[in-house]
Amino acid sequence: MSNRSYYIAGNWKMHMTRAEAAKLATELAAQLKDGKHKYLAAPSFTLIETVAPIVKGTNIRLGAQNCAPEEQGAHTGEVSVLQLKDLGVQTVILGHSERRHNYKEDDALINKKVKLALKHGFEVILCIGELLEEREAGKVETVCETQTVKGLEGVSAAELANIVIAYEPVWAIGTGKTATPEDAEAVHAFVRKVIARLYGADAAEKIIIQYGGSVKPENAAQLMAKENIDGALVGGASLKPETFVPIAKFA
Ligand code: PEP
Repeated sequence: MSNRSYYIAGNWKMHMTRAEAAKLATELAAQLKDGKHKYLAAPSFTLIETVAPIVKGTNIRLGAQNCAPEEQGAHTGEVSVLQLKDLGVQTVILGHSERRHNYKEDDALINKKVKLALKHGFEVILCIGELLEEREAGKVETVCETQTVKGLEGVSAAELANIVIAYEPVWAIGTGKTATPEDAEAVHAFVRKVIARLYGADAAEKIIIQYGGSVKPENAAQLMAKENIDGALVGGASLKPETFVPIAKFA
């Protein structure tokens, strides 16, 4: 058993109106009040201002799902870390597979965002993970190592304290297919070794590595029982208290 505490994050993706988000945030705040772990809700940009006062002062952190790689300027359609800070956002999810693969974000762009978010004091959840064809070609470690190393390029040892890694095998996201706890654990242990090589054993021991990919109330406890799995990044199941709360309070 490690000394790391569990961190369960909800990625609400592009769902909900303000009224729906307010309802979900209110229910989560009430039901997670006695929760023992660390929690996050990451709504769409347009919902952040609604959710912020509801989670303020609770044990649920406020997250965003992306940010621009620049502070401000002529960047039509982008949202800046300065604007996120103004709304009270504490954490930014970066490098999500939907950003990498559907919106063609590469490691260099993600790294630029990571460094900018860290510079402005945000916690960053850096998502990594392989495609199905990469897994089948035996490239899981190469892909995860590259995304970790390149995503963290130029990140200092002090800044690493504000980094959380989310291992999310792309084939398991939103598909109902979950990596077996053993398969996930093997990758988490590998990623921790990569961190040890880059930042030393102490930093590797401390860093939180979440698992993401069809986490549900039925599989959360088995995943979290693994030595190197320190929490979850939850998509679909984070949209309802009935599914998110049992994951957040897994026994
Ligand atoms: C995610 O979006 O990060 C995710 C893991 O989604 P899901 O839980 O729906 O697979």
